[in-house]
Amino acid sequence: MLLNLDKLQVYFTVGRSVLQAVNEVDLSITERTKTAIIGETGCGKSVLAAAIAGILPDNAQASGTITWENTLLSPKLLRTIRGKELTLVPQNPLGSLNPVLTAGCQVSETLARIKPELTSAERYHNTLELFGTVGLAQPGTVYRAYPHQLSGGMAQRVLLAATIAGTPKLVIADEPTKGLDINTRNQNVLLMHQVFAASALLLITHDIEVAATCNSLIVMYAGELVEAGSAKEVLKDPLHPYTCQLLHSHPSHGLTPIPGLPPDLTSLPAGCRFANRCALYNKLNNSQKQLCLTEHPPLKPPGSTTAVRCWHA
Ligand code: SF4
Repeated sequence: MLLNLDKLQVYFTVGRSVLQAVNEVDLSITERTKTAIIGETGCGKSVLAAAIAGILPDNAQASGTITWENTLLSPKLLRTIRGKELTLVPQNPLGSLNPVLTAGCQVSETLARIKPELTSAERYHNTLELFGTVGLAQPGTVYRAYPHQLSGGMAQRVLLAATIAGTPKLVIADEPTKGLDINTRNQNVLLMHQVFAASALLLITHDIEVAATCNSLIVMYAGELVEAGSAKEVLKDPLHPYTCQLLHSHPSHGLTPIPGLPPDLTSLPAGCRFANRCALYNKLNNSQKQLCLTEHPPLKPPGSTTAVRCWHA
């Protein structure tokens, strides 16, 4: 097992309130697998990624266990593997690059950290090669370009070049296609699957078509996993009402928005977190509704490879 999360929880202290961003997430990732996490904004996807990468802000508290190759992921181990075996491709590629350094300098600096034995001339040539690998035309020109001279798609490729410099075992890509037009999105997703073919990929996205390119799919709602299984199965035959309604909110499935809003994460309901928006809830009898409102549903495998958090799915 490459990465394992056992009951991972993340809380934020906001003034006098405690916000539960991630609740008891269990997750296993094996070598070379491609896993997508989908869900609405604020469902905890990016916080989960930050917790794995050890970059939570100071006001966050995490509990639970994270293991890496069956060893507890201690701060010391994280410092050893982060940026090399475990890498994060952040949201907002243009904002993630240093505005006062050229694209080439930034990738060359990454190479210097990962492979200190390289000379500066070797780093220069390796950087040009990496730019070529990620499909950047005219690598020499890109090397000398500052971030403000790059498009969003080019900046994304520069970040991918920095990521593959370290031959990572796990790449966490946080909303890698956000803000890109459809063509650039499709090209970059294809490119990611090519350059990370030998790595495990944890792809955080709100885009169902991007998620469909992965083998496994996890659906998050209000800080929890609500459905998990093979991407093909979950997208073809979703079991959780939230997954069904999320798919139907997509333009290709009718563009029917999910009514209402997710619950306040500082004051969560005792029962199901999706109850106030659930289309299935309205079709239940009174005792079934009572269960939804009073008992928190566990994540249970319903006899197939898919796990679902719903009393009545
Ligand atoms: S437990 Fe009840 S409210 Fe929650 S998703 Fe299932 S049917 Fe809907």
